[in-house]
Amino acid sequence: MKIAAPILILTLVAVVAFFAFSERYADFRAGLSEADPQSAERLQPVIERFRPLGAPLGEPGPMDWRATHNDPKQTFKQYLRSRPVRPRGRRDTIYVQPLGEFTEQERKIVELTTAFLSAYFNCEVKVRNDLDASIIPPHKRRFRAEMGREQVLTTYVLRDVLKPRLPEDGAAIIALTAMDLWPGKGWNFVFGQASLKERVGVWSLSRFGDPEESEEAFRRCLLRTLKVASHETGHMFSLPHCVLYECNMNGSNNLRETDRHPLALCAECNAKVCWATRANPLKRCRSLELFCRTHGLEEEADRYERRIAALDADRQPKSDAGR
Ligand SMILES: [Zn+2]
Ligand SMILES: [Zn+2]
Repeated sequence: MKIAAPILILTLVAVVAFFAFSERYADFRAGLSEADPQSAERLQPVIERFRPLGAPLGEPGPMDWRATHNDPKQTFKQYLRSRPVRPRGRRDTIYVQPLGEFTEQERKIVELTTAFLSAYFNCEVKVRNDLDASIIPPHKRRFRAEMGREQVLTTYVLRDVLKPRLPEDGAAIIALTAMDLWPGKGWNFVFGQASLKERVGVWSLSRFGDPEESEEAFRRCLLRTLKVASHETGHMFSLPHCVLYECNMNGSNNLRETDRHPLALCAECNAKVCWATRANPLKRCRSLELFCRTHGLEEEADRYERRIAALDADRQPKSDAGR
């Protein structure tokens, strides 16, 4: 026993060390495959194929985002060097958190947006139980008489409502609400806001028109919601604003600008999302084309169709410009 005890202890230490090492080794290997230049290299030809499709950004209007913000340009290679946040390991699910009340059609838009996000980011998207609007205290709201509406402070939603509720397997948690939002001093309103490092975001349907009005109004509200939701989730996976081409990651100051931007990503941003979410570019485009076609978003479906054609080596890509 005098000899066996130290051996037993040593064996236990060795077993514990082995498991600890195995875990570390698995992390190390995962890290290696993430940094694997092959996966980034695999996307280079896709960038080249998509590049001719990209419509260059024109001069911004006086009220446009780029007239008042000087976002730096970021290529796919620069994104890879920026240590981006992305779905990895256990954090592989996007959570949607409904906040406040919704009409029947708004609720339908929430459901469709959930399905769309799943295809856009190649991961499972789960809807959490509703949170009552009363979770926002009165001093984190304001009433804008000139707009005739109440607004909710986004920073409170992000830090105090969402951050403590990010599940252990949450790659991101996004609140969606029909209440109007503002991000703080100096701002009239905001469509949505996200934290690039905290995995939290919020967006509002309140300025996207009444989806109960008509089928066209429903489609318009749906498209706007899809654009803002995927744009904000893109921020959560560390994609900054895009200043390279017409792209869903372009910054937006107003609804006209949002309507002008495409739902699809440009060549560089598409590579960022495909790399971050380990998505197959062709499969991703196919499922997004099908989604858009099924829900009457023809112009956006056509964009994805052109991307699918661009990945087909025998076909000549056509540009999005002028369409
Ligand atoms: Zn943005
Ligand atoms: Zn882009």
